[in-house]
Amino acid sequence: MIKQILILSLAAFCLNTAAEINYQVIPMPQQIDINKDGKYMVLSKGMTVGYPSGNLQMKRNAEFAAEYLGLNVIEEGKKKADVNLMTGLKSSNPDAYVITIGQKGIMIQGASESGVFYGIQTLRKSIMNETGEIRLPYAVVSGEPRFTYRGTELDCARHFFPVSFIKKFIDILALHGINRFHWHLTDDQGWRFEVKALPELAEKASVRPCTIIGKNVGLSNPDNAIYDDTPETGYYTQEEMRDIVAYAAERYITIIPEIDLPGHMIAALSVYPELGCTGGPYKVWGVWGVADDVLCAGNPKTLEFLKTVYGELCDVFPSKLIHIGGDESPRVRWKSCPKCQAKMKELNLSNEAQLQTYINKEMEAFLATKGRQIIGWDETLEGGLSENAAVMSWRGYDGGKAAAKLHHQVVMTPTNNCYFDYYQLKNRDAQPLGIGGYLPLSKVYSMEPVPSDLTKEEAKYIMGAQCNLWTEYMLSPDHVEYMLLPRLAAMSEVQWLKPEEKNYEQFLERLATFKQSYQRLGYKFCTSHE
Ligand SMILES: [Zn+2]
Repeated sequence: MIKQILILSLAAFCLNTAAEINYQVIPMPQQIDINKDGKYMVLSKGMTVGYPSGNLQMKRNAEFAAEYLGLNVIEEGKKKADVNLMTGLKSSNPDAYVITIGQKGIMIQGASESGVFYGIQTLRKSIMNETGEIRLPYAVVSGEPRFTYRGTELDCARHFFPVSFIKKFIDILALHGINRFHWHLTDDQGWRFEVKALPELAEKASVRPCTIIGKNVGLSNPDNAIYDDTPETGYYTQEEMRDIVAYAAERYITIIPEIDLPGHMIAALSVYPELGCTGGPYKVWGVWGVADDVLCAGNPKTLEFLKTVYGELCDVFPSKLIHIGGDESPRVRWKSCPKCQAKMKELNLSNEAQLQTYINKEMEAFLATKGRQIIGWDETLEGGLSENAAVMSWRGYDGGKAAAKLHHQVVMTPTNNCYFDYYQLKNRDAQPLGIGGYLPLSKVYSMEPVPSDLTKEEAKYIMGAQCNLWTEYMLSPDHVEYMLLPRLAAMSEVQWLKPEEKNYEQFLERLATFKQSYQRLGYKFCTSHE
């Protein structure tokens, strides 16, 4: 009897420790062919990772692989490695990868260095929750993303988050195969980007003396609002941002910085009131919403100011795309401002929307001299797009559709599928504060970034999709993580998989395992989903 129990528990122990790895992770690889002969390789400490000598990116990839899989790094040529990393995979998609596990060990091959990185991530996720002996069945596993632009936005203006968290955030993006971090650095409620030529922006415009208490999405009467008088402060030095850019680049993530113009500029106006149509005074806003006060389009100093700011922005961020905002900029001040009206007359413009286009064109020309391209929110369509502008479609899909028809590049980020400041469960009391709305996991997963009525040619202009974290009501890193996860997992499959490759039921099964990984990595997340 005792003997039987012993045998049974030993069997159970063996089952527990020798887990079947099935390579089904998020985002799901397009192809998983597991050998039927039952052969496997045991991954053990002391095994080595090799990479092509002289390739620094591959060296970094090898270090990641060693860290994730618990192995040692060696250079190629010195000794045959157990895990071999290489480029040269024939594919038109630079992010494509193939993992081969067999008698000769593991080979992770990418169409480029980024593809190798994604292969490493897939292998990492396949084994992350294993505690005993790791047996990797002989297999060929391959994957490639559907879209070239796979973005996530974080607003660090409404609330400031420290460098340590920004790096953790980038790690989370890397785990999900995201390759663009759209960094919202300035707004009415705080300026977070150090401009060396204009030190008052970092020193003063980064300080919000007070924040409205409770819910506020408009500003019926800001003067009578009740405020929390704890100041919200903080900005990123250029040195810190350069460090973050490098940290992201190692993980194949490009940071697209945003300085929102001509609206969402009250923090800047608080130190340079002469750049506003009325001349102020202004103070860094303690309420949330859309302000009537914006940059004066008729004051030549405005463009001077913007060129100084964006000049330094380009020094720090190597990204080709530079985000100029352009959203929620009321034209009411421009209508009654003599300078703005004189500018319109001089340029022979028939409405104020065209005045915004004039600024965009000036910025486009300026940024083009630095080899950059502008991207703006879909309001930038209203006065006519400047020549090479890309469009970020947030008010639904129509703006993006219109831009694609005009052959402008588009990133789809409609509120209904992509605004992660919305609640993820119906029961609001069970969750931390959100801005409103309802965006459950299933609705994120159901997103189709390419509108069906675009022609094949027009559809090519949809670069990809992006989810956004506006942080009016997210005061802490924990809260940001909670809003992001697990919805980012759903977004990841929107960005990586074609519609026919998606399967929500199967995704949920994989998500159950992925959530254990979140736990293991110390990430906060919403444990239930709808
Ligand atoms: Zn003006």
